Amino acid sequence: MNRTTVTLVFLAFLTACGPRELQPDARYECGRCDEWNEPQEAFRIHGNTWYVGTDGLSSILIETDDGLILIDGGLPQSAARIDANIRALGFDPLAIKAILVSHPHFDHAGGVAALQRLTRANVFSSEAGAAVLQSGQLAAGDPQFVANSDNGSFPPVKNVTAIGDGEFVAFGSVNVRAIYTPGHTLGSVTWTWESCALNTCLDVVYADSLTAVSAAGFSFAATGAADRIIESAGRIADLDCDILLSPHPFFFGMYDKLERRGEGNPFVNSLACTFYAEQALDWLEQRLDAEKQ
Ligand SMILES: [Zn+2]
Repeated sequence: MNRTTVTLVFLAFLTACGPRELQPDARYECGRCDEWNEPQEAFRIHGNTWYVGTDGLSSILIETDDGLILIDGGLPQSAARIDANIRALGFDPLAIKAILVSHPHFDHAGGVAALQRLTRANVFSSEAGAAVLQSGQLAAGDPQFVANSDNGSFPPVKNVTAIGDGEFVAFGSVNVRAIYTPGHTLGSVTWTWESCALNTCLDVVYADSLTAVSAAGFSFAATGAADRIIESAGRIADLDCDILLSPHPFFFGMYDKLERRGEGNPFVNSLACTFYAEQALDWLEQRLDAEKQ
């Protein structure tokens, strides 16, 4: 190969893999990572709200008249996919001003450090979430924490802004409100904002995970985590909610809804947050029964 060919091959390689800042460290591989990180075409959910995540892990882009807001960064391996999805929609990832995090687990916060380096956006989380994001290690009280282990670690995020319960992240005319919904983790946040299209404004809720999933030996009943899930489910059910989104597409029936596109907007369902909360309480009950045995 002559020098020009070598350069072209190298450039093609860079384009295929995305920007260098977004390349993950091999130690963050996991059993289901490849499956979760399968590509998913980006699409508009409603008005200012777009899906830019992967097949199994949600990332949401909110368009404002003063830049973009991104919610969640998937796995470390997802950052390049999210970047490519945002570009495919015609947006510039460098216009991202804020990255919001639902909860500080490796499969939703793993790509945040790389996306922050690329975009220089401010990262926002709850107070408990900010501490975990900055350490890149699960907190000792996390249901999935394993002592003396790297289990669940992810690239640490610098300079996370802790936002209080009920406070807003505001850019342009879009105000995204943080609702603390601990239980799945101590630092869980549900984010809610308004999306307008064709003179109709709807409330979008990105409800954090409420699943009672843990490492071996953790008790949701004995630690109070069960009570936290019950309270958080109540908070989500009480929100003004026309469109439900959540950190895993499966939790809000994304693929069923995509198949029904064309019959109005299947993402609009004012009962979806109530159903989501009820489903979480059913799963919790099963978990508590299992803990008694
Ligand atoms: Zn999680």
